[in-house]
Formats: sequence, C-alpha cells, structure tokens
Amino acid sequence: MNRADQKMQEYLAKHPFLQETAAVQQGVAQAIRNAVSPMEFPVQEEIKKLTQEGLPLLQNEALQEKIGGAAAESLPQALTELLAVAVPEPLAEALQTFAKWAGMQPGEKLWELIRLVITQNDEKLNVLLQAEGLQGTVVRAVIWQLVDVLVPVNLKDYEFWQKLGWTRNYCPVCGRQPIMAHLRKEKEGRARFLVCDGCHTEWPFARVGCAYCGNEDLTKMHILEPEGQSAIRLDVCDKCHAYLKTYNEEGEEGIYLQDWATLHFDLLGEEQNLIKKGSVLLESK
Ligand SMILES: [Zn+2]
Ligand SMILES: [Zn+2]
Repeated sequence: MNRADQKMQEYLAKHPFLQETAAVQQGVAQAIRNAVSPMEFPVQEEIKKLTQEGLPLLQNEALQEKIGGAAAESLPQALTELLAVAVPEPLAEALQTFAKWAGMQPGEKLWELIRLVITQNDEKLNVLLQAEGLQGTVVRAVIWQLVDVLVPVNLKDYEFWQKLGWTRNYCPVCGRQPIMAHLRKEKEGRARFLVCDGCHTEWPFARVGCAYCGNEDLTKMHILEPEGQSAIRLDVCDKCHAYLKTYNEEGEEGIYLQDWATLHFDLLGEEQNLIKKGSVLLESK
C-alpha cells in the first residue's frame, strides 16, 4: 500500500460513516480505469494557444470530438465493468438500466449523450434522459468518471495552469465550475486554487472573492469554520449564497480535495440553506 492509500485508510477508520461511499468510489474508479486509459493531448505550447481566449480544452470542437468519441466507444465496456462493482440497491438498478440501454445504442446516440453531458447542456440532456428512461445522476457520474480517466495527469496539475496563466473561474480542461478550493502556501503568503469535480484539474484563482458570481466585496463574504476542525472551511458569498469548501492545509490533498471524502463538511452549508455548486451529481445551473 502506498503512502496516500495508507493515509486514506487511516482517515476512513476515523470516519466510519464514509466507508460505504469510499468502497463505491474506489470500485467505480477502478472499473473505469479497466475500460479506458488517458488520451494523448496537444503539447503545452499548443494548449496555451488553444486556451488563451478562455475556451476550455473540451469545448474546442476537435478535442471534444476526440475525447467524446473515445468516451462513447468505451462506454458500453465501462458499464459492463461497473456492473461487477458492489453498489447499494437503487444505484445498482440505475446502472443496469444504463448498461442495457448503452449496449443497444448505435455509436452516434452514445456520442450525443456524452456531448450533452460534457457541454453541460442540461435542458437537452434532461429531454434525452427522460425519453430513454435513464437516471441523470448515474449518467452524469459515469460519463464524468470516463472523462476524468481520459484526461492525462499532467494536465490536472495546478503548476501546469499556473505556467499558462489560466485564472478564470471555470476549469481550463472541461469548463465546469469548481467544486472545492485549496489554499496553498506560496513564496508571498497564500494562494488559492480551484478544483474541478468533473476531471479533477486544479488551477489558480484570485485569493479572495466569490469564485461563482464574481463578487469581490469582502463585506459580503464570510467564513464558516467547523468546530474543532482546521483542515476545511466554507467560504460563503452573501450575494449568490453559494459556498466553496476550502482545504486550508497541505499534504493530504488525496483526501481533502475529494468532494466525497469531505461530504460531512457540507452539512454546515446545508443547515444554513446555502447552495452547493460544481458537483457532477447536480445539474449545472
Ligand atoms: Zn474539469
Ligand atoms: Zn457569489
């Protein structure tokens, strides 16, 4: 077992309520990795050119076709692998329905579904899901997991995007809003990075202000700190009422930058009727 796995084991032993979720997460991730491998992306210089006007890579037509095509091709096999993972009952049923459906569709239909998911076209996606009797949460989760594996690890690194100067409030790779933030110690004070729930890319962003609505008025922002916990805090915007779960420390990114492993911190936001954004399980707007 490597160091990161060991840390996760220790963390789960202290948070037994997360164990079932962890087993599902890890089983699903492994099943998808059995079905697909990371794709080759353009080199750094080329990526710099492609993204300099603010267009995320997966919203570039050629790249979208390449990644989406690969995802469509491997979807039936990924779903077959997923059926072997032990998951709780309602999820198992939705997966079976999805697998059976995907096994009968022509490639163009799978590609259409994937395109609607990765362009976050919820309106058209919901029409298709309803017509085909598919469950949105499961469809979104499976397709984003596929995309996550297809994106090479070097593109997910915050240093890559720091070098390229991407500082927008959406993911440079897939275009999603962030799910979490990370405050890192840099040479001069601390810097903030945002994390994508779709492809797990991390990129730099302004140190203060709301990452969702652009509010920069600090009198309209506040912080919620869970009692007795320093690793995670919630940055709350009083303008749009969204909160951003923020990891304050360093060294346990494998745990604290995972939405599922820090779900208990979302309770604090839920109790105050605040809005959670950026999750692959939710609609984008
Ligand atoms: Zn992303
Ligand atoms: Zn806001």
